[in-house]
Amino acid sequence: MKIDIMRLKENIVDNFQESYDPRDLDLDTSEVKYQDSINISTEVRKEMRVLFAKTHFSATVELICSRCLKQYRNVIDRDFDIKYPLDKSEQFVDITQDIRQEIILGYPVKFLCKPDCRGLCPRCGKDLNKGVCDCQMKSKLSE
Ligand SMILES: [Zn+2]
Ligand SMILES: [Zn+2]
Repeated sequence: MKIDIMRLKENIVDNFQESYDPRDLDLDTSEVKYQDSINISTEVRKEMRVLFAKTHFSATVELICSRCLKQYRNVIDRDFDIKYPLDKSEQFVDITQDIRQEIILGYPVKFLCKPDCRGLCPRCGKDLNKGVCDCQMKSKLSE
């Protein structure tokens, strides 16, 4: 998203919107797969020699649960503010890379299909959300 600094009036909010192909932004990771195009809207305001950009981002993603490895769909929704000091000679500020950074930094360390996901049995690999497996029954009996 390129902001035309010359077009901005001092202290007046201007709205920018752009739709991105997630592949162009390189947002996919091994756990996160974007489904559709991403809409990013940014409110921009220039004050003195600083540009304030308030960005809203939301997208549907296909995720892999870190515990049970099941695929599930979710919406990633984020708001963030970025500040740019402006140089007199600059006419455009491209905020795309910073938006990308913010989105990726906002990913949780672990994605869980539900907060209390029980994960897979480390022995037999059974999805423990669907019930207890034999190895767990056995270890319970031997305790
Ligand atoms: Zn899970
Ligand atoms: Zn098991």
